[in-house]
Amino acid sequence: MTDVLTLTKALINKKSVTPEDAGCMDLLADLLTPLGFVVEHLDFGDTKNVWIRKGSQAPLFCFAGHTDVVPSGPAEKWQTPPFEATEKDGMLFGRGAADMKGSIAAMVVATQRFIQANPDHKGSIAYLITSDEEGPFINGTTKVIDTLEERNEKIDWCIVGEPSSTAKVGDVVKNGRRGSLTGDLIIKGIQGHVAYPHLARNPIHQVAPALAELANTHWDSGNEFFPPTSFQISNINGGTGAGNVIPGELHICFNFRFSTEVTDQELIKRVTELLDKHQLEYDIKWTFNGQPFLTAAGDLVAATVDAIKDCTGIDTELSTAGGTSDGRFIAPTGAQVVELGPVNATIHKIDECVNINDLSTLTSVYQNILQRLLA
Ligand SMILES: [Zn+2]
Repeated sequence: MTDVLTLTKALINKKSVTPEDAGCMDLLADLLTPLGFVVEHLDFGDTKNVWIRKGSQAPLFCFAGHTDVVPSGPAEKWQTPPFEATEKDGMLFGRGAADMKGSIAAMVVATQRFIQANPDHKGSIAYLITSDEEGPFINGTTKVIDTLEERNEKIDWCIVGEPSSTAKVGDVVKNGRRGSLTGDLIIKGIQGHVAYPHLARNPIHQVAPALAELANTHWDSGNEFFPPTSFQISNINGGTGAGNVIPGELHICFNFRFSTEVTDQELIKRVTELLDKHQLEYDIKWTFNGQPFLTAAGDLVAATVDAIKDCTGIDTELSTAGGTSDGRFIAPTGAQVVELGPVNATIHKIDECVNINDLSTLTSVYQNILQRLLA
C-alpha cells in the first residue's frame, strides 16, 4: 500500500513544468501495473499522455488528470523550494500540491485500496493522464479521446482531479463548465486629420454604439445549472499616439463564457448581425476554446454527492463556475464527468500548498465513489 502523502511528495519533487512529465507517469505506471493495469503511451508532438486500464468490461470508470504544472515563478519568493515538497503546519508546500499532484496520488491510493477490498470488482478502471493540461491543450486529452473514439472505447464515468473545492475538500464539485469563445475584431475607418473629419472616417466613433449594444445585450438567462452567458471586452486598442490624428483602425478583443442555452454558432451569428446592422466595415477572427458541458444527474453525480457526505459530512454544491478544463474534451463522448479535487485557493500561486489531512479525505472519497459504482 502506498501512502498518499509520500506519493504526493514524490510527484512534486519531479519538476514537470508543461509539457514536461519528468517521470511522473512512469511512477504511476509502476504502482498500477502490479494491480493488473495495462499501460499504453499515447504521445503526440512534445506531449506525453498515458492511458492505463484494468479490465475490458463495461462500465468503464476513468480517473483523468495532468502531471504537468505551471512554472513556479521566482523561486526565491517561495517560503520553501517549489520543487522540494515540504511539510509545514499541517500543509504540504510545492508546485502542483493542489493542481493536481495531490489528486493523482489520492486516485492511485484509492484504487489500490478499492482493488484490495474488491479483487473481483465489476467493469473496468482507467487513468487518462496528460502532460499538457496547463499548456496549449492541443496534443493532450483531446488527442487521447480521439484515439479512444476511433476504437470505440467508451468512458462511462470520469472523475477529473482538478482542484474544485473552495474552503473545505468536497464542498464544491464541478459538474459542468461554461463554453468559451473569443472574437478578435478589427474595425476599419479612414485615417485623417482631426481638424478635417469629413476627409476621414473615425472607427472609434463608428463602433461605439455597437459596443454599447453588445455590452447591454441579454444573450440568455442561463438555466438551473449555468449563470447567464456573459460577454466581456478584454482589450481595445486604437490611435496613433498623436492627438491630432483620427486612426484608421480599431482592434477589439472580447470573450463569451456561455451556457448550454446557446451555441458558439448562434453567438457568432448574433454578433455578426449586430455589427452589420451598425453598417461597420470590419474583419473578425473567432477562436473557439470549448463547448459547455453538463452532467446534470445520474450515477456519477449521485455517487460523488453521497461519497462526500459519507466521508466528510458535507452537502456538496454542484457548480459550473470557473475556467475551462479537460472535462470539455471527455464529456462530448457521452461520458458523465465531474471534477473533484482539493481546495483551489493557492493554485498557480507562489507557495502553492495542500492540506495534508485533505489528501487522506480525498483518497477516502475517491475510494467510496469506486465502491458505489464498481463493487
Ligand atoms: Zn489543473
